[in-house]
Amino acid sequence: MRSVEEHQRVVAEMIRARPAVAVPLAQSQGLALADDVVARLALPVFDNSAMDGYAVRAEDTTGATAERPVVLPVAEDIPAGRTDELTLQPKTAHRIMTGAPLPAGATAVVPVEDTDGGVDSVAIRAPRGPGKHIRRAGEDVAPGTTVLRKGQVVTPAVLGLAAALGMAELPVIPRQRVLVISTGSELVVPGDSLRPGQIYESNSIMLAGAVREAGAEVTAVATAEDDVAQFGSLLDRYAADCDLIITSGGVSAGAYEVVKDAFGREGGQGVEFVKVAMQPGMPQGLGRVRTEGGGATIVTLPGNPVSALVSFEVFLRPALRRAMCLPDPERPHRSAVLTESLTSPRGKRQFRRAILDHDAARVTSYGPPASHHLRWLASANALLDIPEDVVEVAEGTELQVWDLS
Ligand code: AMP
Ligand code: MG
Repeated sequence: MRSVEEHQRVVAEMIRARPAVAVPLAQSQGLALADDVVARLALPVFDNSAMDGYAVRAEDTTGATAERPVVLPVAEDIPAGRTDELTLQPKTAHRIMTGAPLPAGATAVVPVEDTDGGVDSVAIRAPRGPGKHIRRAGEDVAPGTTVLRKGQVVTPAVLGLAAALGMAELPVIPRQRVLVISTGSELVVPGDSLRPGQIYESNSIMLAGAVREAGAEVTAVATAEDDVAQFGSLLDRYAADCDLIITSGGVSAGAYEVVKDAFGREGGQGVEFVKVAMQPGMPQGLGRVRTEGGGATIVTLPGNPVSALVSFEVFLRPALRRAMCLPDPERPHRSAVLTESLTSPRGKRQFRRAILDHDAARVTSYGPPASHHLRWLASANALLDIPEDVVEVAEGTELQVWDLS
């Protein structure tokens, strides 16, 4: 049997970063920048008013008080967006709004609150010193400044900055494109009615959700019956534009194992099937398949829902995030004290669903170890990571826990 670490390594090696591309801002959120970003523009772009008020020469307001206001004629009205270039004459004022361009010659803005708000002339009730309420061009960003660094993740604030600098695109490491295929003749789409022996198909929506949560893109989701021809035609139909194909089911030791049968049980067609020393998630497979787009990596997960999602957590989430240069490819690993005694299978690394009490650093298993108990996984906040060689864990033992919260 292959160790978990070895299989993690092999999977990670087959999931490679796509070449950097420039994408429209709206498509870049959540991705890592492929390059530093250098500002080509000053921010603010031009000297402008920080307040709604009156642009003046500061010295023209000297001595103004509520009792003895300075009264100036209002020569211009400057709303935000006015594009003609204006000059302020001495002993006059321009009414000006926040963000509007400061006229040449103005050295201060008097906020409207300190005036009578006049339109033809204005009574100014308090003086303002030079530079007051003016936002200077370039005081936020000088042209030529490196404002964003390669590897930084595009957040809403990054989007705002890039847009303010007039950029329509950002250079990013693109999302991995993932096709998710469920297999099983017993599977029925949720919402349809079940006949005896049928169950609802739950892996594809779950794995597609996990793919998106990892930051990758789902190109298509499909379900095949346990029929090699049908499985093959789904691959033909959907695999062209993806980097990774994730299948679930059909890789165990029984009959009707459609994924194994499609690629040859002995792994002759570029896909190898291996046993990994873990529980859940022992039967695994991976390889490369030829597609119209050139080729894609395929990772074949076991069908039991808990096995499928735990396998995704252990092998695929870290590999996908690494390939997209995203931070924290691994879930945070924490140490916590076990509140009970547990047994664990010899020779297998066991990942048990658990509830982690973060504050007390204590952890309790949650639900049985068997791999069809999806209910518990849905409300667990951690995975207990019990090493291969451990068969009994006493209450009070410190264990490693993967924090899913
Ligand atoms: P398999 O790996 O195909 O032998 O499936 C193992 C178990 O997981 C069986 O009980 C299947 O019915 C179940 N299973 C496989 N695929 C799915 C799926 N997509 N949704 C729900 N259960 C599944
Ligand atoms: Mg099956």
